[in-house]
Amino acid sequence: MRHVALFILLQLIGLLSFAQSSGTTQRKVAITIDDLPVVTRRSSPAVKLDITQRLVGSLVKNNVPAIGFVNEGKLYRRGKLDAKRVNLLQLWLEGGLELGNHTYSHPSLNKISLANYQQEILEGDIITKEISEPFGKAPVYFRHPFLHTGRSVATRDSLLQFLDEHGYEVAPVSIDNADYLFAAAYERAIIDENTDVQQRIREAYLEYMEDYFAYYEQQSQELLGKEIAQILLLHANALNADTFNKMAEMIRERGYSFVSLAEALEDDAYHSQLDTFTGKAGISWIHRWALTQGKQGEFFEGEPEVPPFIDELANSF
Ligand SMILES: [Zn+2]
Repeated sequence: MRHVALFILLQLIGLLSFAQSSGTTQRKVAITIDDLPVVTRRSSPAVKLDITQRLVGSLVKNNVPAIGFVNEGKLYRRGKLDAKRVNLLQLWLEGGLELGNHTYSHPSLNKISLANYQQEILEGDIITKEISEPFGKAPVYFRHPFLHTGRSVATRDSLLQFLDEHGYEVAPVSIDNADYLFAAAYERAIIDENTDVQQRIREAYLEYMEDYFAYYEQQSQELLGKEIAQILLLHANALNADTFNKMAEMIRERGYSFVSLAEALEDDAYHSQLDTFTGKAGISWIHRWALTQGKQGEFFEGEPEVPPFIDELANSF
């Protein structure tokens, strides 16, 4: 009898691990979008409105509870608050999406004093608070520009305390990537009115992003023995406005459901993993934990690379 029980138990364990490895456990991802209201080389308000409408439209259509991180400095034109730019943020709120604080003017914590950085945070949510209120919302998440979190543990911890005192929680990133390079290349192709190159960029971008999902799924599994709820970083640009429908399809096909940042942060990895990273690069939280654990070169291998033609176009400005 004991043998039978043991046999059944082993069978069950086998079934459970099969269920996990075959992806029947639901993957989760939160979509976070930085540098609102919009990133573009083109100055026309109509272009900015069009990008925002298409990006927000695509997020809403795909039922993605995304959060956008605002640089309020970009709301001003020649020192005056620009109603058209504020209206772009309004579109995010009207779409049921959330807004967070990304500082006033996007400085690096590695380059300015903590006191000045804190001032940047305080000045970074004045309009956001005002326009979120009628929607029963308030900004509660903070995203470090460049993902630069400070060159010493003391600076980092002082900032965390400051954020806590002001009702903010840090928005980490697990799937970091260089979407901004593809987006710069895309702007070049749009300005040049080269539709063939635009399409080539969109295709290369979607492939690159899928590779990034695969890479961080594997990194997470290897480091933590499970796939954490992922947090993807994107930027508010024309490329994401034009590709998000297809990206959402790719993400769903990998077995993900879209969750809010709050739900992703329920994953205990974001609270239990030790992180003493004080390097100057802005990197994924998974890599911060890995470096803290002493992982080296080999562990990080296989990170997707930006194709040379993208680099070339992005650097043509
Ligand atoms: Zn940013």
